Amino acid sequence: MKKKISIELAERVKHLPPYLFASIDAMKQNALRRGIDLIDLSIGDPDLPTPIPIVQSMKKAVENPHYHRYPSYEGMLSYREAVARWYKKRFRVSLDPATEVLSLIGSKEGIGHIPLAFVNPGDFVLVPSPGYPVYAIGTLFAGGKSYFMPLTIEQKFLPNLKRIPARVLERTKLLFINYPNNPTSAMAPVDFFADVIAFARRNDIIVCHDASYTEIYFGEKPLSFLQIPGARDVGIEFHSLSKTFNMTGWRIGFAVGNRDILKGLGKIKTNLDSGVFQAIQEAAITALSMGQKELTPIRKTYEERSRILFRGLTEMGLDAVKPKATFYMWVKVPPGFTSMNFVAHLLERAGVLVTPGNGFGDAGEGYVRFALTAPAERIREAVGRIRQVL
Ligand SMILES: *Cc1c(COP(=O)(O)O)cnc(C)c1O
Repeated sequence: MKKKISIELAERVKHLPPYLFASIDAMKQNALRRGIDLIDLSIGDPDLPTPIPIVQSMKKAVENPHYHRYPSYEGMLSYREAVARWYKKRFRVSLDPATEVLSLIGSKEGIGHIPLAFVNPGDFVLVPSPGYPVYAIGTLFAGGKSYFMPLTIEQKFLPNLKRIPARVLERTKLLFINYPNNPTSAMAPVDFFADVIAFARRNDIIVCHDASYTEIYFGEKPLSFLQIPGARDVGIEFHSLSKTFNMTGWRIGFAVGNRDILKGLGKIKTNLDSGVFQAIQEAAITALSMGQKELTPIRKTYEERSRILFRGLTEMGLDAVKPKATFYMWVKVPPGFTSMNFVAHLLERAGVLVTPGNGFGDAGEGYVRFALTAPAERIREAVGRIRQVL
């Protein structure tokens, strides 16, 4: 018999935080096997299709042999120009498409890679908790240490920068923030962004603002970090077509802002990937050139769902944060439950699946996240079922 080699994971993989969703996946599979009519409100992935003009644009582009070759690393100039036009129109921010826009294979890709460009082993990265898990994972893969900044309702889900100890700040390279926020749905006021810029300057910290949800709003329009004076000196903003245009499967996003920071991220990318399929970039140009006409019905759909869920949960005495943006609702678990218990209770008794808040970090304990990614009548049905098991 030939000797088998021993296959051992690297330390960085062994040190990945425990996958909290594994036990939920198992519960979900179990419920489905029992034939339960499951209402899944755990998924941060739009159930609505990509708008037709974008799909048509892709169909046409895919036949162009010119697009079958390697794309440029930084993205087609025409794509970067479309991003710059979109920023100008939406945020009144001017960007140089040649140096201040970088294409990404979805914003997750850029977020996951940026610590490799700027974080040395032992350096700190400031990470919101609860927060999108990739901030901490990218940090871990780069050998850095996450310093978690709790987002609490008392602080309007904004991190308290004054609470970060000096010994951490001395070795901090990056700060991640994300508004409108997943999972809490909070928006950030202009003063907060201004404080972040002053803080970054004082402490020599690169700001990475994750702006994936700026287009899913129900009233006041969310800000771009780059609208605030001085932002471009200290940071970049990650953006995505995924949530705005129901394009999660297409894998395209971009980063904009400080050219030296983008250059650093670009260095990592040229050594790891070969850019975004050009036919997808062509379809993304179509998306970014679409007017508000296409986006208004998408917002209205989420708003209606949000209204049904918020009223339903509030009427049964649950404490929910009313979203002004994003397609999430952050809800306090009733007394006597943990996040995990409550998720299990809703799944087993009501056939409704939501995400435990501690899956986004320790500070998310005591909450669950509802995603508004199911049709209104299913949300109404979910509300009815939850009422019966509380
Ligand atoms: C969905 C999401 C992303 C990633 O989106 P991509 O599909 O990779 O562009 C990034 N940040 C947050 C907070 C998200 O919810």
